[in-house]
Amino acid sequence: MPLPTRAGLDAVPAYRQGRSAPAGASKLSSNESPHPPLASVVQAVRDRLDGINRYPDMSAAALRERLAERYGVDASEVTVGAGSVEIASQLIHAVAGDGDEVIFAWRSFEAYPSLVRIAGATPVPVPLDADHGHDLDAMLAAITPRTRLIFVCNPNNPTGTVVGAEELERFVSAVPHDVLVVIDEAYVHFDRTESRGAGIELFRRHPHVAVLHTFSKAYGLAGLRIGYAIAPAAVAENQRKVAVPFGVTDLAQVAALASLDAEDELATRIDDVVAQRDRLHAVLTAAGWPAVRSQANFVWVPSADRTAELEGLLQEGGVIARAFAGEGIRISSGSAEDIDRVEAALAASAPLAVDAERVEVGA
Ligand SMILES: *Cc1c(COP(=O)(O)O)cnc(C)c1O
Repeated sequence: MPLPTRAGLDAVPAYRQGRSAPAGASKLSSNESPHPPLASVVQAVRDRLDGINRYPDMSAAALRERLAERYGVDASEVTVGAGSVEIASQLIHAVAGDGDEVIFAWRSFEAYPSLVRIAGATPVPVPLDADHGHDLDAMLAAITPRTRLIFVCNPNNPTGTVVGAEELERFVSAVPHDVLVVIDEAYVHFDRTESRGAGIELFRRHPHVAVLHTFSKAYGLAGLRIGYAIAPAAVAENQRKVAVPFGVTDLAQVAALASLDAEDELATRIDDVVAQRDRLHAVLTAAGWPAVRSQANFVWVPSADRTAELEGLLQEGGVIARAFAGEGIRISSGSAEDIDRVEAALAASAPLAVDAERVEVGA
């Protein structure tokens, strides 16, 4: 007799983690912070280690209060999860079930399609526009009576493009109130446009908006797994019902609080990552590759049928990036040494015929 299996799981792709790097190589495949954790954060975690025989505070009250204060929202509107991937999953489970539809741009965050399917809902991917950004009109046109949720990944992973605040407001205003718009701002700290952080303002002004933030990227806590949402209280209440109990450890909560205490110190690091990101873009462009201007901590190269070649060049130069076969490569913004390596690796490449329009996208 075969082992039991849930119907429909065949359609769920397993999440593919950014490739691990051999010793000594630059791991630029997972958009992690190239900086080691802050000493104050490490100390705060150490101080809590003696308590790991106890369960964490499941409500994460201290952290939620702190975030509520920071954003001027009510603590009942803040939810935490084991990374914002888990929060995205909570949000989907909170509003969508069998036969419901969830819209997102594609290509975007790899976890969306599988999280939607696991909830029993149907993913509705809407192709990015020619400039690698969200095609909001097409996303509006994709709304049906079964639509429950729309993700807007802003800045978008893996292309690094942003939807401007005004454009986003127009979009949110056009979406019916029985559809939740989730603005995934995992990379908001790296956004240097005027629209940066538009999500929270939209949350304040519209009843059907939720915003996702994470401590994994700019705050460098990817290994501890903690993220949060600011969501309408009724949605937040349902998120708590579908969340895995005790999913967020006490160590993660403490590290998040210590990180909020150290935001000035973190800002310097974020500036450094942004500087290396822009340098990475310049290095790629100078070598003739069609890099897209990015507001995140990575750069997208729509290398199409030269993707394997570019991946090979980088690998030979000791750089592990994230390749999507036949589409392009996403290279995370690492340390200055990491980008030196990229530069050296590309020096070996024959220049690509540059599509000038594409290169200046989002500039
Ligand atoms: C990395 C990422 C996240 C969240 O990562 P967590 O580590 O689970 O917090 C969420 N959304 C996008 C678009 C991401 O790229």
